[in-house]
Amino acid sequence: MSAQILLPDAVDRAGAVLAGGGLVAFPTETVYGLGADALSGDAVGRIFRAKGRPADNPLIVHLADAGDLGRVAGAVPSLARRLAAEHWPGPLTLVLEAHPDVPSVTTGGLRTVAVRVPDHPVARALITAAGVPVAAPSANRSGRPSPTTAAHVLADLGDAVDVVVDGGACRVGVESTVVDARGGTPVVLREGSVTREMLGLRDGGPAGELEASPGTRYRHYAPTCDVVVADATALHDVVTRHLRAGARVGLVASTRRPVPDGAESVARFGDAAELASLLYRALRDAEDAGVDVLVVEAVDETDVGRAVMDRLRRAAAG
Ligand code: AMP
Ligand code: MG
Repeated sequence: MSAQILLPDAVDRAGAVLAGGGLVAFPTETVYGLGADALSGDAVGRIFRAKGRPADNPLIVHLADAGDLGRVAGAVPSLARRLAAEHWPGPLTLVLEAHPDVPSVTTGGLRTVAVRVPDHPVARALITAAGVPVAAPSANRSGRPSPTTAAHVLADLGDAVDVVVDGGACRVGVESTVVDARGGTPVVLREGSVTREMLGLRDGGPAGELEASPGTRYRHYAPTCDVVVADATALHDVVTRHLRAGARVGLVASTRRPVPDGAESVARFGDAAELASLLYRALRDAEDAGVDVLVVEAVDETDVGRAVMDRLRRAAAG
């Protein structure tokens, strides 16, 4: 069966699909999510099968309102309360002690649960309509670039999802910042557009344990072409070297840079935030265009640039 596409004003029908144990892809401000009833082990199991996601890679549970935290978290310490008040709705995920009602398939077998309130009116209306917390990883096949449009979702999961809610292109474009909020200080487990500075971590804060954030172990965001990251000063040489080797070369570079002869411009960006918003689309566009190598200009690792460079390194790995 192929997926049905609903307009955002049809969220009530999509909510009923979620409440009935179905899979609904929906827009958030970060990327499109593949949602299911977070409290139903059967429904969440369908997410893992549809994505081909390893069972030990836990999901983020999405709420319509911070007031629902008690449904999925066993305890809400004062740090979590403060971060939720400051950043929700928004692209910040809090890792907390899990409520016993959350099935272990949702938490990847951990005793903790990751939770956030998305800053997207369609997402929150959908979760409200469903009446249940909604577990939702990015709506791509495991290992592929995350989807930032409904068309990306259909390309990866068109046969596996019951409904796709089309809310247009996602604003932020990279996944949420994940922090462990169980202690006295936030511990960043995954970089996102909520920066360490915004979390009040002036010296960068404590290093997150890789083991504590299972998803960071896996290969991610990989298109079928090679991805090479180059500093602005090396960009021209890197492009030329691949062209001389006979490759078709795509380029994602700052609008300040000239496009070297022979390179195919895939996307241009003004700053790191704009690169974040178009990066995953550019990875998919590059493979659709049939280039062999996509050269991407590096950005400074400040603010959202940290998250962008983290995703780029993963896309380039392997
Ligand atoms: P995705 O929804 O695909 O962006 O993946 C969610 C990511 O959030 C996972 O891959 C983990 O890295 C992180 N995460 C989710 N739940 C937990 C948890 N209970 N503890 C630590 N990290 C988590
Ligand atoms: Mg993902």
